[in-house]
Amino acid sequence: MRCVRCPLTIFQNDFLQIIDIFGVQVKRNFACSTCKTHRLYFDPYWSISIPIPVRENEEVVTLEECLKKFLTPEAEFYCGVCKVERNSIPCMTIEKLPAVLVIRLEQAVLDEPTWQPKKLNTPVKFPLVELDMAPFTNNNIPGNSYQYNLYGISQHVGETPDEGYYVSYCKHPFSNHWHCYDAYAE
Ligand SMILES: [Zn+2]
Repeated sequence: MRCVRCPLTIFQNDFLQIIDIFGVQVKRNFACSTCKTHRLYFDPYWSISIPIPVRENEEVVTLEECLKKFLTPEAEFYCGVCKVERNSIPCMTIEKLPAVLVIRLEQAVLDEPTWQPKKLNTPVKFPLVELDMAPFTNNNIPGNSYQYNLYGISQHVGETPDEGYYVSYCKHPFSNHWHCYDAYAE
């Protein structure tokens, strides 16, 4: 699972094992609607932060819907041929998956009328086993594993993004029982 064609190689050899364990690479392909010029970016991440689609009445969304939204953002890019910023929806795919995939749900958002931070309470449904990442990747990458089993969750508890605390749930590697950790230190 070594990345050979990407900016992840900016890291030195000492980091290659960490890249194998946690490194994600996302490809963004912008196309200028006027001159049709393409511009490619390869973005490295240690974890991916994915948006939660906002639904009425805090209807349940799936993790797959969040991943789809993450890969179809509206974004601006500078077209070097037209010499202007263009609005575009880039074609995005995950080019490299790690051994351990860390996904962060973006619960903290800006409330548009007030531009104050607020917390989304939209329930997100996710599989405990066999999360299939193949639909979100360039699935011709040798060595990539596309299926993930969940073994840990860190959950924010609190009314707003600025207050509260975190509770974690972890699956024991031998008993397969889930444990809740909500101890705190003062
Ligand atoms: Zn252009």
